[in-house]
Amino acid sequence: MPSSLTGPTIGVFALQGDVREHLRILTDLGATAFGVRRPEELARCDGLIIPGGESTTMYKLARTFELFEPLQQRIEQGMPTFGTCAGMIMLADRVEGGTADQETLGGLDVTVRRNAFGRQVDSFEGELAFDGFEEPVHAVFIRAPWVEELGEGVDVLARVEGGPADGRVVGVRQGSLMATSFHPEVDSDTRIHRYFLDLVAQA
Ligand code: GLN
Repeated sequence: MPSSLTGPTIGVFALQGDVREHLRILTDLGATAFGVRRPEELARCDGLIIPGGESTTMYKLARTFELFEPLQQRIEQGMPTFGTCAGMIMLADRVEGGTADQETLGGLDVTVRRNAFGRQVDSFEGELAFDGFEEPVHAVFIRAPWVEELGEGVDVLARVEGGPADGRVVGVRQGSLMATSFHPEVDSDTRIHRYFLDLVAQA
C-alpha cells in the first residue's frame, strides 16, 4: 500500500536492462525502490519502471519467470508505469521492426519503431523540451525507438529538436503510463523521475 510517510514504493523491472541507475535516482527522491524479478515483488509496487536494455530479451525472460501476465494485469489495472527505451517498446501496443515473434506488454496506444534512428546515428545526445519543464532536458539515445503513430488520448511529452529526425516523438503519456525513447537515468537530472513520481502520487 502507498504510504505518504515513506514515499511510494517503486519497482524497477530487473530481469534485464539498466536497473541500477533508476534505483539510485528513485532512492535519492525518497521512494522505496527495488528490482522486480518475481510476481511477489511486483505485488508490493505502487509504480514500476521498465528500463532500457533489449526488448527482445525482456519479453522472453518475463515469460520464463512468469512475470509477463502479472505485469500485463497490473498495467491494465492502472499501475503507473514508466518505460525508457526498451521499456517504451515493452509498453507499446504495436511495434515496427520487432522480431517475428516479439511480444509486448502493451497498454500505451502507440506504434513504436525499434532502432528507429538507424545505424548511422546508433547513439546520440541532444537537448529537448519536455512537457512543463522550464529548462530543456539532456537526452541520451542508445539504439532508441521513436513513436511512429499515436492513438487518441496519448499526449506528446517530448520531440527531437533538429537534425534528420527533427519533430519525431520521443516522449509520451497516456493516463498513468509514460515512456521516453531516451535514457533519463544516465545523468544527474532527476526531473523526469520526479514527473513519474507525481503520476504515482495522483494515481
Ligand atoms: N534497441 C533496443 C531494443 O530494441 C533498445 C535499446 C535501449 O534500450 N537502449 O529493445
